[in-house]
Amino acid sequence: MSQPAYKYCILGFGIAGQILLLELLQRGIPGTEICIFDEYFLGGALATHYGTVISNTPWWKTRKALIEYPQWSSAEIQEGDCKFQSDQCTPVAAIASACFRTAKKALNFSKVTVITAQVLAVHSADSEKQIQHSYGSVHCTGILFCTQGAEEKQLDLPLPTIPLWIALNPALLAQHVTPDDTVTVFGTAHSGTIVLKHLQELQIQTFAVYNTPKPFLFARDGEYDGIKEGSAVIADSILAGDYNHLTLIPWAEPLQLYKALQKTTKVIYSVGFKPRKIQGLDNQYDPESGRLLAHEGVYGFGIAFPGVTLQGEKKYTDVSVLSFQEQIRRCLPKILPL
Ligand SMILES: Cc1cc2nc3c(=O)[nH]c(=O)nc-3n(C[C@H](O)[C@H](O)[C@H](O)COP(=O)(O)OP(=O)(O)OC[C@H]3O[C@@H](n4cnc5c(N)ncnc54)[C@H](O)[C@@H]3O)c2cc1C
Repeated sequence: MSQPAYKYCILGFGIAGQILLLELLQRGIPGTEICIFDEYFLGGALATHYGTVISNTPWWKTRKALIEYPQWSSAEIQEGDCKFQSDQCTPVAAIASACFRTAKKALNFSKVTVITAQVLAVHSADSEKQIQHSYGSVHCTGILFCTQGAEEKQLDLPLPTIPLWIALNPALLAQHVTPDDTVTVFGTAHSGTIVLKHLQELQIQTFAVYNTPKPFLFARDGEYDGIKEGSAVIADSILAGDYNHLTLIPWAEPLQLYKALQKTTKVIYSVGFKPRKIQGLDNQYDPESGRLLAHEGVYGFGIAFPGVTLQGEKKYTDVSVLSFQEQIRRCLPKILPL
């Protein structure tokens, strides 16, 4: 039996896969040449894992990205007919749903093939790519776009671990800690700080480990990636001594860290993300072009393969709807045939 073949395949339909689809259609690529895979098709991690978190990006940034697709975007985007103020930081679920509504409308009108299945492996040799999924396989004759998202980085400590997405949801976190627990949180940036607030509200003894020169780096002090909005308010309160269940521990003090870990019953890691692994794909990529270095015709975008900004010696990854869009727009003209 001959295998279905598509010129463009998109692996993952989170925010990055959605923006990518909108961009391809916008540039005149026929929907019939595109195939998208996602194991859930629910809108990606912002919809399924982090919805309750208040974002650190104001609503106008989401709107600015989506208004570029007027034929598909909703009235709340086009006319600003929305319950959110332009400078308001909305729950992450609102960003996910605005983006998903726009992308779904484009899907419905463009005859794109949708495969709801887990991609198990990609076999690539020269420019040929075969995508093996739970129910069969598909031949990609042109470009494969990897937008499969990322998973939390972990330190391999032999201690019970509460996943970050659970720790970010107060109701779920409450199910996984008891008053007898002592929890150590690694990382004190945006997500880590929110987790510290939830643990304080539950009155759980907590250690917070930071590997920066100070416990918190603030955007208001000019730090490129510094915390802002709700996280900055929490950090101010911690530094003012309001968190009576919390002890801050510098990573650079091994003895203090060792003593804290002796008392620790559970850990939470908020130390960044790494791309999800797909068998057969090497995730090393060039942030300038988005190209996966070991493969011909394979490109990555989104939180797994973000653009990078250099500030002096330091490299920062750019992670937001708007920066994913900017990166995709910068790279696509060099990827697509004229
Ligand atoms: C706590 C938190 C808060 C954030 N807040 C904001 C914010 O306020 N504003 C903002 O712009 N960004 C925010 N981000 C960053 C970023 O926008 C999100 O992480 C976003 O979800 C990344 O989108 P993505 O499309 O790259 O990946 P994902 O959303 O993870 O999408 C990947 C998709 O691929 C699918 N997939 C993965 N593997 C397979 C497979 N093998 N087979 C089939 N399908 C697969 C998944 O089902 C998923 O739908 C936040 C991130 C976090 C963690």
